Amino acid sequence: MDEGRLLVFATNNMHKVKELNDILEKDKLDWVFRSLEELDIVEDIEENGITLDENAKIKSSYIWNKYHKNSVGEDTGLEVEALNGAPGVYSARYAGNEKNDQANMNKLLAELDGIAHRNARFRTVISLVLAGEEFQFEGIVNGQIATMPQGNQGFGYDPIFIPEGYNESFGVLGKEVKSLISHRARAVKKLIEFLKMRS
Ligand code: IMP
Repeated sequence: MDEGRLLVFATNNMHKVKELNDILEKDKLDWVFRSLEELDIVEDIEENGITLDENAKIKSSYIWNKYHKNSVGEDTGLEVEALNGAPGVYSARYAGNEKNDQANMNKLLAELDGIAHRNARFRTVISLVLAGEEFQFEGIVNGQIATMPQGNQGFGYDPIFIPEGYNESFGVLGKEVKSLISHRARAVKKLIEFLKMRS
């Protein structure tokens, strides 16, 4: 493999790896992405930033600094208007350190109980470190928080997020829709355009 064209995807979240591969499948790119698992990198990178941008950069920089490999870090948050942008960067640990998707959704539904204004957005920040230089790409999808979970596709908050223009949650809509319009798909597409320009 041409190491110059290798990008390490600095995540242990196999759902994210799968979504990235679904998006890349449709796009011919002469860069190769490898997950931490595929490279036998087992450590959990500590996300102690207070913004998505910081956390994304922590992940990509960690790989560059420790292994000297080009890398992509990604961080996502669900920002709910009626909660002033919470859970945001704290989305994973919203209901506690065990990062439980079900508990996180239940907590969010309880916080919004009786609230009609349910506008929210997913925001993803991707940080690319190429030969030590950092570039960032953002992807946003607007939508609404459902009143109860719908469907079991995807992961995280997908069953309670209804993207704008649709009547069903990402948990029902699944990967076909997600790989076209999701926050992550939009950020990845910007990354792909950038990489193509560098080719
Ligand atoms: P992180 O980016 O891995 O820190 O994820 C933050 C939180 O948002 C976690 O609870 C994830 O499960 C959740 N999350 C991240 N991406 C998505 C997504 O695409 N859909 C639904 N939930 C997500």
